[in-house]
Amino acid sequence: MCESCGATGLSRRSLMVALGAALVAVPALAVPASAATLRNGAWCNPGLGYFPSGGHYGAPRPGGAHAGQDVTNSTGTAVYAAAAGTVIRRQWGGGLGGRTGNALVISHGGGVYTYYGHLNTYRVSLNQRVAAGQRIADMGATGNVTGPHLHFETHSGALGSTVNPVNYLSARGVDLGGGWPALDPGAAGQTVSVIQHLLNQRGNNLVVDGSYGTLSVNAAKKFQSGAGLVADGQIGPLTWPKLVYTLSQGKSGHHVRGLQTALNKRSAGLLVDGDFGSVTTTAVRTFQSANRLVVDGNAGPITWRALVG
Ligand SMILES: [Zn+2]
Repeated sequence: MCESCGATGLSRRSLMVALGAALVAVPALAVPASAATLRNGAWCNPGLGYFPSGGHYGAPRPGGAHAGQDVTNSTGTAVYAAAAGTVIRRQWGGGLGGRTGNALVISHGGGVYTYYGHLNTYRVSLNQRVAAGQRIADMGATGNVTGPHLHFETHSGALGSTVNPVNYLSARGVDLGGGWPALDPGAAGQTVSVIQHLLNQRGNNLVVDGSYGTLSVNAAKKFQSGAGLVADGQIGPLTWPKLVYTLSQGKSGHHVRGLQTALNKRSAGLLVDGDFGSVTTTAVRTFQSANRLVVDGNAGPITWRALVG
């Protein structure tokens, strides 16, 4: 428990059930017509874990309302940049009041900032440029806490103007804590490249340019129709599980290129050659270990979800 967090690790939510249900509900109920420009593929989940009891944004604290959302997992769990930007703070409490522990603040431009607190280890330096999904730190329990977790904040408008990070990321197709992302037509980024590789494995011949344009959207709609899904072109929590392949060492093809691209988003640094060899196996195992998944070197749906989320 911390003054900014109060996390105990109890009352964990179910990633599989509660999150999935919340994600499915969001596009229909809460996302405005401009969603296509919001769910743009540029944002991703900063850390895999669970929401602890009392760790929500706005929860009462002795010094004021809780400024972020806590995500509980064990010390050493990977923490990723939620979007591309520049590391502007790398210090105790992020240089902001009411916060303790090792912290990073990333500026994303346009008055948007993210804060990552109670870190065990920094993996980036001050003023470093980072990509979305790049590993920036390890989760920890530094500062005033009772257990390891990530204290994650989103600031919009100015540094210090916090907004609910669950809602902020949800509007950008990301399920904080873990879950399949939702990408609309017009999205761009490495996750789109992953989708294009996976669609090419289904017999398409798309240029893998990371841009979710007309040809890719049409290919996705065709895939969705064939899979019995609503053919809306949105790659979300219903489409992803049917789009990915369970892969292991010895496989080769466009789907392996997709896997390698997804691993590279998480700082693996692989050659995207479509061959699932020992180097790719090691990268999968490293990712699984860093995210507290079963470490078997195989890319099944749970590993895929953590990779692309
Ligand atoms: Zn917190």
